[in-house]
Amino acid sequence: MPSDLVIVYHRQPYEEVEVDGKIEFRENASPNGIVPTLKSFFGRVDHGAWVAWKAAEDPSNPEFERVVEISDSYGDYSVSRLPLTPAQVSSFYHVTSKEAFWPILHSFKEKYNYDPVDWPTFREVNWSFAEAAAAEAAENAVVWVHDYNLWLVPGYLRKLRPDVRISFFHHTPFPAADMFNVLPWRREIVESLLACDVVGFHIARFVANFVQVAQSMFDIEVVERQYVAESELDERSALAERRSPTRISYEGREIAVAATPVGVDVGYIRQLASEESTTEQARAIRKEVGEAQMVLSVGRTDYTKGGAQQLESFERVLENRPDLRGKVRLMHVSVSANRNMRVYFDIQNEIEQVAGRINGRFGTFEWQPIALISRAIPFDQLIAYYQAADVCWITPLADGMNLVCKEFVSSRLDGDGVLILSEFAGAAVQLGNAVIVNPYSHRSMDQALEKALVMPEDERRTRLAGLREAVERYDIRAWASAQMALFDHGAKRPGFRVA
Ligand code: UDP
Repeated sequence: MPSDLVIVYHRQPYEEVEVDGKIEFRENASPNGIVPTLKSFFGRVDHGAWVAWKAAEDPSNPEFERVVEISDSYGDYSVSRLPLTPAQVSSFYHVTSKEAFWPILHSFKEKYNYDPVDWPTFREVNWSFAEAAAAEAAENAVVWVHDYNLWLVPGYLRKLRPDVRISFFHHTPFPAADMFNVLPWRREIVESLLACDVVGFHIARFVANFVQVAQSMFDIEVVERQYVAESELDERSALAERRSPTRISYEGREIAVAATPVGVDVGYIRQLASEESTTEQARAIRKEVGEAQMVLSVGRTDYTKGGAQQLESFERVLENRPDLRGKVRLMHVSVSANRNMRVYFDIQNEIEQVAGRINGRFGTFEWQPIALISRAIPFDQLIAYYQAADVCWITPLADGMNLVCKEFVSSRLDGDGVLILSEFAGAAVQLGNAVIVNPYSHRSMDQALEKALVMPEDERRTRLAGLREAVERYDIRAWASAQMALFDHGAKRPGFRVA
């Protein structure tokens, strides 16, 4: 059945569970994250489709079910699964996307690994995604493509289906030309993105960078620039951009370039946070921590998240401030990527080593300075940790947005708690009421922690109230409406239903 909205996202939108030898499709156990938000768009169309990949030892096996029909609380939609061999997944995802693109997107030139990239495989996989999307899309449908691992899809899709509207959203940062142009495939990638109707990013800086990159290789005109709304901007932020292009033109076509910051589901988090079982868990965590102050850090194990640098800051603070020993505990949640990739293996080792050293140097029988957790914590438990913490310490070296800091703010129904946030997280542009730090500076990192630990209650509350307002204003619903407006912008077909 042709679909008015086709979402192209590398992961499938459900969990596959085997029950008595049969595969059942279940809604993701945890409704946080971007997948449920994307699925909620299916409630606005008669029929939707989702295109993802699925591992297949033998893609030509006739038993492989290419398209499955799903009917769940989000609506009726087809899921088109591309069978990819383990070798294709490794090449397209682990090598090209994670070893070549990811470091450049986050401005880590030294981590960029060009040699193992097999570009024909990357093209081939992207072509398959484009073909599947073209097969699902109704006439004049919207095809919404997500993230850098599908960069070539818009260009292919435009050739296959000139009628559809293509919107592309980047969930990562987008660097300036000096960094982006390290990629030897830059022209092909940017030309593909220029085949879109809408190219979206989290914040205005990434839009500006993209336009600069495009102008470095093609004849691009900026048709419109707009001032960034004051509420969306802390001018002191390292990622602040006062004015940013909103429309550009290339070869006679106009392309909207948009900054729409992804937010969290504030209502859902509040509901979880107010449940008795959550507050009970939070009380139990506090009891465990005892008299000490609790500092919480949560992120994936990735060099972009700055986990090792943060632990080193904690070590310096304990070294320079003997009075804090025994009085503060750091709970460092660093969820391993488990990708069998050298670079993630190295960072995991480094984090374990530094945490072990600090516990060894300063720990006593009664007091362990750091609790290091490498497994993922279920979302409801995480909310309890957010509630129990005195300080939430989020210091990525580069981050497209960072949702953890917004979740922390939304969980604090008590209106208390301090957020320390890196100025290189996209979220910092909106969250100027946090204690903003430069994670590359020892002094900035160490002083911020010391400041947070002694911040007077009225300052904590004033800052948190400001943070809360920003997180609520830019929650996930605001992002969804902004996307809807962009889909409809200049569309030939009637708009989507308003949910
Ligand atoms: N998360 C989780 N359990 C954990 C650690 C993280 O559920 O133990 C979730 C967290 O709640 C957040 C997401 O993982 O929604 C991480 O998103 P973020 O934007 O902060 O970082 P990303 O991993 O996307 O770079």
